[in-house]
Order: sequence, then structure tokens, then C-alpha cells
Amino acid sequence: MAKEPRLPRRERTPRPAAGGPKPRRAGPADAPGHDPLPAPLRAGSAPIHDALLGWFTRVGRDLPWRRGIDPYRTWISEVMLQQTQVDRVVDFFHRFMERFPTVERLAEAPEADVLRAWEGLGYYRRARQLHAAAKRIVADHGGRLPSTAPELRELPGIGRYTAGAIASIAFGRAEPIVEANSRRVLARLAAHAAPLDGTAGDGPIWEIATALLPPRSAGLWNQALMDLGATVCTPRSPICSRCPLAPHCLALKTGQAGAIPVSTARRTVIDLDETAVVVRRGAKVLVVRRGVGEWWEGLWDFPRLPAKEILAPLGCGRRRVVGTCSYTVTHHRVAVTVAACQASCQGPRRDGVAWIDWEALGTLAMTSPGRRIAALAEREGGMVGRPAAGASRPRRG
Ligand code: SF4
Repeated sequence: MAKEPRLPRRERTPRPAAGGPKPRRAGPADAPGHDPLPAPLRAGSAPIHDALLGWFTRVGRDLPWRRGIDPYRTWISEVMLQQTQVDRVVDFFHRFMERFPTVERLAEAPEADVLRAWEGLGYYRRARQLHAAAKRIVADHGGRLPSTAPELRELPGIGRYTAGAIASIAFGRAEPIVEANSRRVLARLAAHAAPLDGTAGDGPIWEIATALLPPRSAGLWNQALMDLGATVCTPRSPICSRCPLAPHCLALKTGQAGAIPVSTARRTVIDLDETAVVVRRGAKVLVVRRGVGEWWEGLWDFPRLPAKEILAPLGCGRRRVVGTCSYTVTHHRVAVTVAACQASCQGPRRDGVAWIDWEALGTLAMTSPGRRIAALAEREGGMVGRPAAGASRPRRG
């Protein structure tokens, strides 16, 4: 990394007041007699801070949202990084920032445009909540993100981790974070060998993260923990020989580096089957919008059988199978049979049902299985109509 990531001067963590450290908010770790840190870490926390912050200065990852810290960019990147790998997020981040460079532009955009820009990142609930939060920030906070974790947590889609990340990285607040990478590093550093699954399992790690937070540079510390977990203290094969925390790491000392964090049973994968129908009428194709509470709520897709109320009035001819595909969502593995048929009429108007030119499918905010089904139908089934002049957004009916 060419340059040390630095917070703007006005956003650095304030120095402790003369005569003593900056007071921390009380938490479980502050209860009398309770200290979540094993004694060796408690005694060595200053060298631990120096070691990790020094390492981060030298080799921390050069990521686009770290170049010139800005609360809006930090927020967008942190939401994108929830459940999506950094490498995948970089391109999406650039495109999203080009499309919505300010919170005002995001707030005023139609939801369909936000979902379209989110396409490929998955977990569309995040995009919907991001959009709702942008409206709140403009309406209630004059277009500026709140700077404290409690205020940030009032916004849709911002939980404890994201609030801590924004407050510490963008505003220099002394807030801890716990996400997949830092959780693993902290658990190993403290040789915390209890299972970490679920919110209850994370409780002790939040206490360790809070107790180990440096008095200054919390934002850099948090980013350093995440980088160390992503590049050195990896899930299966931690590279302890290259780790700046090796002299302090209790898991390494006790031969548990590969065994921590401890996990309880994996979630069982559920197999599902479904049949998607690509209904054509001339150059047009039928699409349906995913309903409230469904996966990919609000995005367009092809109907799944039985869908009698949608398909029955269309006078469809014989269905023929054009291929199969599959997708995974949460802990479900779904096998899709793709069928195609011709409709003889457009049927009655219905909310959430539309006919669209095949060539205009690309302009729709569509589910990832929908895109896969469209590609398969186009390849295998000869579903393509010629580009329609003025191909447009779907009309109801
Ligand atoms: S010494 Fe090994 S197990 Fe411990 S924090 Fe470093 S990489 Fe992880």
C-alpha cells in the first residue's frame, strides 16, 4: 500500500483529556469484577496496538472507500460489504458512486433504480434499507450522516457492526466492531474457545473488542483487524509466521490457532425444485414482480408454477422444457426447470405482472435467477424477438 490510510484531521479520534484516558461508555465489560481480557492481553494491550497499527500502516489494503474518508462512502461500502467479498464489492462500489454520488441523489432516486444498481450484489433488502435510510438522512439530518453509533443505529439497515464501523472510521469515535474477520482474529488472540454462532455467541467477542479498543485511532484499529483477518488470520490456514500479533496470540501459544473459532453444527442445506415459465406473446415476454416477504422482494422475474391466477387467462399453448439451471439463496439450493410457451392473449391487468419487450429485459431490476433463466431461454429456446423500437419499461397488463 502506497500511503498510510489517514482520517481527515477533523475526524480523527479526539485525544484523551489531559490527566486521564477518554471515558468509555459503560457496558458488560465495565461491570465490577468483570474483565473479558485474559491477563496477558490486558497487560500487553499497548504493544498489541502498536504492532497491529504499524502493520496496517505498512501493508493495509488500498481500497477505494479508504481514499479520502467520507461518511457517505464509508456507509455505502460497509453496507455492500455485509455478506459480500471485498473483491466483488470494489466494482459495484465504483458504479454505485457514479450513479449516486451523494446521499441526496440516492434519496431522490426511484427505488427501482437503486435495486437496478444493486443487481449482482444480492440481499436486496440491504438496498431497500439503504434507500430508506438515505431519505431519513436527508429529511431528518439535513443530508449529513449522524456521527454517533446510537444515532446511526436509528437508521434502517444499520446494526451494531455497521454503526461502529461508520462512527469509528468516518468520525473517529471510539467504537468497536465485530464482523467475520475481526471476530476470528479477536477469538484467536484471546484463545476464546467457546462457540461463536449466533448473537449470544458473539457477546463475549464484543466485550473483548471493546476492552481491547485503543484509546486513539479506533477507526484504523478496526480496519486493521478486518485486514488481518482477511489476509493473514484466515479461516482455515492462519499464516502465523507473518502475523504482527503472533508474540501476543494466546491461540498460537496454546496450539489452538487452527481450532478457533469454534463453531456449532452447520446449517442444513435445503434442496428445492421449481419450474419457471417463460411466456412469450410475439416479441414480448411475461414478467412478475416478487412480492412482499419473498426472496428478492420488488424485483422482476419469470412466474413459477403453479401461478394459475396469472397463467390461466393467457390461453397458453403447450409448454416445452428448454433446460435447467440452479441457484442458491440463504441455505437453500434450488433446481429450476425452465419451460417455455406461447400466450394467445395478454390477459387482464394485474399489479406486479407486465409484458415487456424481450430486448428490454436488461433494463429491468431483475433477480439473478431471472437473469439466468432469460439467458438459458435465449440460448436454448429461441425466445428472442427482434429489438423493438423504443423498447421500454414494462407496461401493466
Ligand atoms: S498468530 Fe496466527 S492465529 Fe494468532 S492472530 Fe496471528 S494469524 Fe491469527
